[in-house]
Amino acid sequence: MRVDVVDVSADLTGGVRKPVTTVDEVMQLLKARGYRRTVQRERIIAILMKTERPLTAREIHESVGSRVPHMRLDTVYRNLELLREAGLVTQINLQNRESARFELHEDGDHHHHLVCIDCGRSVCLPVCPIDRAHLEAAAGAEFTLLNHAFEMYGRCARCSA
Ligand SMILES: [Zn+2]
Ligand SMILES: [Zn+2]
Ligand SMILES: [Zn+2]
Repeated sequence: MRVDVVDVSADLTGGVRKPVTTVDEVMQLLKARGYRRTVQRERIIAILMKTERPLTAREIHESVGSRVPHMRLDTVYRNLELLREAGLVTQINLQNRESARFELHEDGDHHHHLVCIDCGRSVCLPVCPIDRAHLEAAAGAEFTLLNHAFEMYGRCARCSA
């Protein structure tokens, strides 16, 4: 009897996804998509990869710290925006820049988030409640649907205690 070692369904059970790629692979994707590979971008990806929760730009800035001199908070924001454009990073907490958090985005992955309105922590929900076919039919010929952003707000267990 053959036993499958890799259980892909395990991916869907946990809230936090482990990245399966390396920093170098992400950088190659960046380059393939027409963006320059820089030390700052590499550092940001490395930090997001080794952290198990989404981070704010400020937290990323603090982690970059002394390793990349003269990297200002603004530079972190600018690079995160570029990485998001390139489809390598997802922004969570879309309502404001200060509390926005970022996580790595893997190709083919699509999920949504619960966001705590008090502390800003978020939980990945490995589901999509959007019925794409239904929406496409409703939008009709007027609009070509490409993507969507959707998050739910509430209070985490810690904040509601
Ligand atoms: Zn909370
Ligand atoms: Zn997520
Ligand atoms: Zn969705």
